[in-house]
Amino acid sequence: MKDINDFTISFIDQVRAHYDDEFIPLHRPVFDELEKTYLNDCIDSNFVSSAGQQINEFEGKIAAFTNSKFAKSTVNGTAALHLALHVTGVGAGHEVITQRVSFVATANAIRYCNAEPVFLDVERETGTMCPLLLRTFLQNQTKKEADYRVNIRSGRRVSACVVMHTFGHPAKMLELASICDEFNIILIEDAAEALGSYSDSEHVGRYASLTTYSFNGNKIITTGGGGCITTNDNKLSEKISHLSTTAKAPDKFEYFHDQLGFNYRMPNINACLGLAQFEKLDDILANKRSLAEMYTNFFADSGHRFWTERSDCRANYWLNAVSFQTREQKQFFLETTNAAGIMTRPVWVLLDQLPHYSRCETVETGASEAIYDTTVNIPSSAQ
Ligand SMILES: *Cc1c(COP(=O)(O)O)cnc(C)c1O
Repeated sequence: MKDINDFTISFIDQVRAHYDDEFIPLHRPVFDELEKTYLNDCIDSNFVSSAGQQINEFEGKIAAFTNSKFAKSTVNGTAALHLALHVTGVGAGHEVITQRVSFVATANAIRYCNAEPVFLDVERETGTMCPLLLRTFLQNQTKKEADYRVNIRSGRRVSACVVMHTFGHPAKMLELASICDEFNIILIEDAAEALGSYSDSEHVGRYASLTTYSFNGNKIITTGGGGCITTNDNKLSEKISHLSTTAKAPDKFEYFHDQLGFNYRMPNINACLGLAQFEKLDDILANKRSLAEMYTNFFADSGHRFWTERSDCRANYWLNAVSFQTREQKQFFLETTNAAGIMTRPVWVLLDQLPHYSRCETVETGASEAIYDTTVNIPSSAQ
């Protein structure tokens, strides 16, 4: 293995040979004239906000692409997660199992429902929820009461589990889904990072009751701000439509809202941007695949682990990641690349280490710490 100093310099050269910008961001969106055309048309039509043809069209495209019966748009991925948890009945005093390695929105959405997250360590290999740990937790730390599970220690009902596909690498959904099924736990996939990722030849989201996506500016395609929930369940889909549009009962004139709803549906102007982006999705995915191949070759024999897809998966390679051997190497690499105008970033601080989650139950094996200590995200924009 080369010394980390030499290695970092050759990395900088390699990235500069690939991208010819002065400053190389971690992830930037791909726009051209099409976005401008669609946005102009949208403005000319006056349908910029809560009604319009394009929003239905965008939802239809996402449903078809992900092979889901329904896709319901939202203002962002966080709102999608909140609404997904809400419509499946997650409520005050419940617990929701999730993973230590994720963006803060995953846990925040649980709290918005007045429920408590329980943080499981991830697998070192996938960076996503560990099936073995999930089973052990449900078997040993929960008991059956009526038709649901209760956490023996806290006495709270464990109602759902949110699995996140880290950086676009699919979690082991088949195993996780069969465990959730066995213990009667609602399964939700936070696929904010995983549009265009497949496992067992199926797009992610196949095994969950509900799957959420984000179309934030840094995601694989963007609507500016935006998100959606996909499902095959007609009832849940109708509930999401209703609650995301202030729970207004259909009527010719009257403003009658039959329950507490949200203003969570995506505005039409964002969907217009999304439609233009959607036309590029296949190209973006192909471009990311060749970038990942470049990195795979570069990191081969380096002694540092570049995150590649598992053999039964096809990842979208949304954010590329590399794990160094030591914390010191990671820190050196971060400092040196950023000083050279190449944006690299550490993994999120583990969720249970944030002040507002520090008292939550956490099941640790050390794998999440190891990932945090050694892993860096590297430039991943499609060209
Ligand atoms: C981006 C992201 C979200 C939230 O998406 P927003 O659209 O920014 O609200 C949720 N979870 C994960 C894992 C994400 O990466």
